[in-house]
Amino acid sequence: MRKMNFFAGPSTMPVEVLEELRDQLVDYEGQGLSMIEASHRGGMFEEMYDECLATFRELMGVPENYDVYFLGGGATLQFAMIPMNFLLPGKSADYSKTGTWSNKATSDAKKFGSVNLFFDGTESNFTTLPDPKSVKPSPDSCYMYLCSNETIGGIEWQDFPDTGDVPLIADMSSDILSRPVDVSKFAMIYGGVQKNLGPAGATFIIMRKDMLERRNENLPAYLDYGLHAKEKGLYNTPPVFSIWAVKCNLDWIKRNGGAQGMLDRACKKAGMLYDTIDSSDFFRSPVDKRYRSRMNVVFRLPSEDLEKKFVKESQEAGMLGLKGHRSVGGLRASIYNALPMEAVENLCSFMKEFERKNG
Ligand SMILES: *Cc1c(COP(=O)(O)O)cnc(C)c1O
Repeated sequence: MRKMNFFAGPSTMPVEVLEELRDQLVDYEGQGLSMIEASHRGGMFEEMYDECLATFRELMGVPENYDVYFLGGGATLQFAMIPMNFLLPGKSADYSKTGTWSNKATSDAKKFGSVNLFFDGTESNFTTLPDPKSVKPSPDSCYMYLCSNETIGGIEWQDFPDTGDVPLIADMSSDILSRPVDVSKFAMIYGGVQKNLGPAGATFIIMRKDMLERRNENLPAYLDYGLHAKEKGLYNTPPVFSIWAVKCNLDWIKRNGGAQGMLDRACKKAGMLYDTIDSSDFFRSPVDKRYRSRMNVVFRLPSEDLEKKFVKESQEAGMLGLKGHRSVGGLRASIYNALPMEAVENLCSFMKEFERKNG
């Protein structure tokens, strides 16, 4: 029997998608060849890849004047590529420190140039965000950067700042396609696919074409967005397996109501879980209610010993991955698109029972 998978990433995938991959692995659509054996130049890979990009564009509502492609290197490589390409000499970039992932991006950017912090959540221990309406880019800013959902802290931007002519760049690794997003507000959206879109290995890039005119020249080939845009991510060998799985997963999202369908699912699951937390004095959420994540629900118990016990007993009950990230402790339930409602119902019953026995 499949376990209930609350891992933060790599994470749960729809069982239908896993079955499709299994069924097609050896002989893809009767072509006598596996997708992962095929050349990435032309033929069946490129046909599948083009469909993948088209479906991603459709589900995200990406306007014509944006490039969409996949790269390797994880979201982490983008922490460096973004300032290398767009942080111009003598100018600065606006960053916010809202948790582990944006903090890492900020620290990489500082290696390439001047960084203004428009928000620093250190004092609140990264449990709150700025009001987007209060956020303004600084005068010499090349771009403004944020992480839409801090996977470890469980905090999510519900709305985004209006940055005018200053390009807005977002890491959406852990909430991509969990809700409709107005892509035209952003100059670039990117993320690793291993949270909400597929298995680890690929990074999606959505970038407004005019960004290429603002970039630094003379970068090494792989680090230059200009080259990747021209080759739609096929300058070198792409992570073919991951991309194929993403394609199957995007088709699954489409069959299940697209971005709005995913939002409805997320609201139901997160709503049920936060209700269980809020209706008890035993469980507590450290995150500012206004910015609670619908993807990563972080919560605490009265003591660390009880938290350990909770992790152990939940594992025995078939629920994996509920231990919080080692950097923050506590508990975290990652309830991405593919996680079925029943898993959350199961978790909530388990929580109530655990409280009854230990509260
Ligand atoms: C997981 C994650 C990353 C890091 O992704 P890698 O693919 O491991 O480099 C970056 N940002 C966010 C928001 C994440 O959740």
